[in-house]
Amino acid sequence: MSKPDILIPSPLRDMIIDGLEPHFTLHKLYEAEDAEAFLKEREAIIRGIAVSFFHVDQPFIDRFPNLEIVSNFGVGYDKVDARHCGTRGIIVTNTPDVLTEEVADTAIGLMIMTIRELSAAERWLRDGNWEKKGAYRLTPGTLRGRTLGIFGLGRIGKAIATRAEAFGMSVHYHGRSKQAGVDYTYHSSLVSLAEAVDTLMIVAPGGPETEHMVGERVLEALGPDGVLINIGRGSVVNETVLIEALKKGTIMAAGLDVFEHEPHVPQALQDLPNAVLLPHVGSASVATRDAMGQLVVDNLKNWFSVGKPVTPVAETPFPRM
Ligand code: NDP
Repeated sequence: MSKPDILIPSPLRDMIIDGLEPHFTLHKLYEAEDAEAFLKEREAIIRGIAVSFFHVDQPFIDRFPNLEIVSNFGVGYDKVDARHCGTRGIIVTNTPDVLTEEVADTAIGLMIMTIRELSAAERWLRDGNWEKKGAYRLTPGTLRGRTLGIFGLGRIGKAIATRAEAFGMSVHYHGRSKQAGVDYTYHSSLVSLAEAVDTLMIVAPGGPETEHMVGERVLEALGPDGVLINIGRGSVVNETVLIEALKKGTIMAAGLDVFEHEPHVPQALQDLPNAVLLPHVGSASVATRDAMGQLVVDNLKNWFSVGKPVTPVAETPFPRM
């Protein structure tokens, strides 16, 4: 029997390619000299796509009449039009759970780095200033007495909340619905959450529904002692508005792991002393990325061997509705 044909639009980690190769015929779009001709030749035979940070939008999906499954590397799948896949009966899978604790660790690290200025303090030492000029300044910010607001109290949001409680922070949250089984304070709007807290953690997914939800009103509500941490998706925050808010002191500081146009980070943001910037490293340890990669492989293997995805997303449930 011939192996199912899988399209790989952009480079994936070697362990994913090694896991797929024995079971599938792989078509690596990123190695093609003429991408259009490459796709045209293969449109009819592609049955699966394994993808990481590549726009799988409606026109792209519709090129493949025999597409059955899109296996996405990452729990966030805002670059894949899952709703459209759902209407065509195509399954979309992501990589939830295996990265939850790693991302929550990173979020807490970024929050402390931002409030206690740890990366600036380290630069002070490395630049020789400790010896030449003396101690690094006392930080205006402290974690003590802070209240954390979480936008997106899902798997990662809950893991962050547990850690924040251990640091003595009280926790509030906002999402489209009240979460069962938690007694954190729920706010039905993001502005109301921002008014109630001084530290706002974004862990919501990207996509049109959440685009630019953090803008002027939310940042003004957060206030001059406010700290914004974004570990979710860059598109949730209006970056231009945020830069102005950081310049004017509308909020005190921001810690960002994700950006609107990655990997581009505006120079105006890089120039700000009250912004801590990480290059999207939330889940980026070898162990966690391996576990995510294995799920990409397992979803495709399971689908083509037993007809069942391991981790389908909400828009393409299995068994199908
Ligand atoms: P979950 O689906 O478990 O949680 C998402 C939460 O966001 C839910 O509680 C949901 O609550 C809330 N939410 C608010 N608005 C929306 C919306 N419009 N659509 C869907 N959910 C919404 O996801 P995870 O906790 O596993 O991951 C959260 C996000 O974190 C990912 O989507 C990804 O963007 C980001 N992420 C970032 C990483 C990094 O490296 N920086 C790594 C991994 C993930 P409700 O349904 O009540 O609205």
